[in-house]
Amino acid sequence: MSNKDQLATQIVSTGRDKKYTKGIINPPVFRASTVVFNTMDEMRYAIKNKTNGEMFYGRRGTPTHFAFQQAISELEGGFGTALYPSGAGAISGALLSFLSQGDHLLMVDSVYEPTRDLCDKLLAGYGVETTYYDPLIGADISKLIRPNTKVIFLESPGSITMEIQDVPAICRIAKQHNIITMLDNTWASPINCRPFEMGIDISIQAATKYIVGHSDVMIGTATANETHWPRLREHSYLMGLTTSPDDVYLANRGLRTLGVRLAQHNKNALKVANWLANRPEVDHVRHPAFDTCPGHEFFERDFISGNGLFSFVLKQGNLASVTAFVEDMKHFKMGFSWGGFESLVLGYFGLDKIRTATHWDSSKPLIRLHIGLEDTDDLIADLEQAFARFNSKLNANTK
Ligand SMILES: *Cc1c(COP(=O)(O)O)cnc(C)c1O
Repeated sequence: MSNKDQLATQIVSTGRDKKYTKGIINPPVFRASTVVFNTMDEMRYAIKNKTNGEMFYGRRGTPTHFAFQQAISELEGGFGTALYPSGAGAISGALLSFLSQGDHLLMVDSVYEPTRDLCDKLLAGYGVETTYYDPLIGADISKLIRPNTKVIFLESPGSITMEIQDVPAICRIAKQHNIITMLDNTWASPINCRPFEMGIDISIQAATKYIVGHSDVMIGTATANETHWPRLREHSYLMGLTTSPDDVYLANRGLRTLGVRLAQHNKNALKVANWLANRPEVDHVRHPAFDTCPGHEFFERDFISGNGLFSFVLKQGNLASVTAFVEDMKHFKMGFSWGGFESLVLGYFGLDKIRTATHWDSSKPLIRLHIGLEDTDDLIADLEQAFARFNSKLNANTK
């Protein structure tokens, strides 16, 4: 679905099967644990169709969940979608569904930090060995493959440092070796790239971010192709992973405006990023649409559009000057997560500590911005004052 007009229509109409909505435009909240049956035949039918959109028991989902699952499957371009209590839950749910003792996992070095912690603290204890790889490795991933390599995990762009991966090249190698590929596709959301057309087997979303879009719900999704869907669905179910229908209702509601919100976030972010690129204090901008972002050519080839999240690296700076930058901002608030309507800022030191396969020069501070839906003139004025505070602290320190 690269045609933008068709995509806009699909965002509005997907997952609205009357079987689930009963004709109500936004799928309503169906709460359930017990579902009662009048006859043994009815119960047998429900058991037989429990993974098929029939009500069976609350933990298998209700029409609220089914409608959302259908929408995400269609937008991602996969076969089936499992829902999780958070994005982190979707990542662990997907990995634990396919890895067992003695398996080897290839994990991208620029991965979201809690995913790295999952590998080092939990999977290691289960006897799963992780090797981290350079996000720009491409087809050379073949050199790291072992006979017991079971999963290659990708995240593109990478968290914080924003390297874009050559996803199709890695998937081609993985297919030759019968290795499962999983992609944390949160930055693209389900509409800005086509993971299954690139060869990915399982695409993961922290729906907490842009799908929900209002910073008020935690939810995750993992969408599988037809081959991997039965195991993903069943193993996630066995782990007892469910989501509240109220949260899913809000995710469904947020989804309908995803296209227009992302277009505005993208427009605003490009304006701010262009302004930053011309600042004397800035070493380079790590926005996938800029050629100063590693892997930019893969963004040009594989993505439909961008969003509001990017980083920039300063030529110099210390804790005091970066603190002066990020504190006391008027519109940019300090806080984790992203994807809501408000602008956010975070200053990073010590990124070298969460890199083991690649080198990161921590002498240059990195600042990550999420550009919200405010007026960009206000955001730029806010950043201008932040640079003034930054410079005065830096000069005071070097005297
Ligand atoms: C936020 C985030 C997650 C985790 O999502 P939660 O819903 O906060 O658990 C996973 N991956 C990426 C890339 C994220 O940005």
